Amino acid sequence: MITNNFKCSLCGHNRHRLVSSRLRDGSQKSKVYCCFTCGHVQLYPQPNIEKEKAYYDLNQQDKSVGKKIYFSALKKNNQFDTDRHIAFVSKFCRSKQSKILDVGAGYGFFIDGMFRRGYHKVVGVEISQERRMIGKRNISAPLFDADILSEIPKGGPFDVITMFHVLEHTRNPVDFLLRSKALLKKGGVLICEVPNVEELLLRTCKAYNDFYWIRAHLHYFSAITLKECLKKAGYKRGCVYFEQRYGLENLFHWLRVGKPQIENPAFTIASEYADVENYYKKQLSVRGVSDALIAIGYT
Ligand SMILES: [Zn+2]
Repeated sequence: MITNNFKCSLCGHNRHRLVSSRLRDGSQKSKVYCCFTCGHVQLYPQPNIEKEKAYYDLNQQDKSVGKKIYFSALKKNNQFDTDRHIAFVSKFCRSKQSKILDVGAGYGFFIDGMFRRGYHKVVGVEISQERRMIGKRNISAPLFDADILSEIPKGGPFDVITMFHVLEHTRNPVDFLLRSKALLKKGGVLICEVPNVEELLLRTCKAYNDFYWIRAHLHYFSAITLKECLKKAGYKRGCVYFEQRYGLENLFHWLRVGKPQIENPAFTIASEYADVENYYKKQLSVRGVSDALIAIGYT
C-alpha cells in the first residue's frame, strides 16, 4: 500500500501495510502502519505540534484511561516499576555522585527514589505542566520544564540519561536519541525503556489489541527497530533486552475480562506463586515476546 505522503521515519521509504485502522482514543484520520522495508510501526499522520503540547500539558493520557490523579495512589501503582528502574539504573552509576538525567520524568517517582537513595545529582525534565506541578509538590529531587530538543537541561553533561516509556511519544526517535547523546559525557550511557510491539498478548487477546493503539504513541518498537534507532543516532555497543513488566494476574484479567486493571495493575502475584510468575516472565523474555524492551547505548 502507498498512502499519500507517508514516509517511514526510520528508513525513509514509503511502502507500508495497515496495522490498525482505529485508535482507542484518537481521531479517525490517524492510523497505525508498518513499514515494508524496515518493519518500523508508526502512527500516520502524526497529531500537529500545538495539539501535542495541549495534550501533554493537560495530562490527557492519564485522564483518557480514567486514572484518578492522586499522587499517593499513582506512586503506589508505579512502585513496582520505580523500584525495578532504580535497581537497574544503579548498576550503571559509578558512584552516588553520578549525574543522572531522567527525560519525561512524569510525576518524578524515579528521580525521587534515586535522590532518597543518595544520588543527589539526579534531575528530571517533564514537558507536562500538570504532571510537573503535582510532582514538584510531592518530591525532593529537582524536576524542570525542558524539552531536550530545544533546551539544555540544568546539571549536565550527564553520566546517565534515562527515559522510561518516552521514546514512543516523540515525533522523531532518532533525532531525540541524537539530542540525548549530545547531553551525555564521553563514556556516558543511555537507558531507554519502551513497549515491545511484538509482545505475545497483542497477538493472543483481541481486547488487548483493541486497547493497545493510542494517539499518544507515535512509534511502536521491536527489538530490531529500537536497535536500529540507536545505531542511526550513533550510539556504540547498542543492545536491547526483553523485559516483562506485567504479571500473571494481569494476563488472566485480560484473557478472562478483556479489560485493563487501571486502578490496581498487577505486576506481581502473591509470593507463594513467585516461582511460577518468574518462570512466566522469564519465558516471555527468552522468546522475545515480553511487554517491554530496554535499550542500552554508550557514547
Ligand atoms: Zn522503514
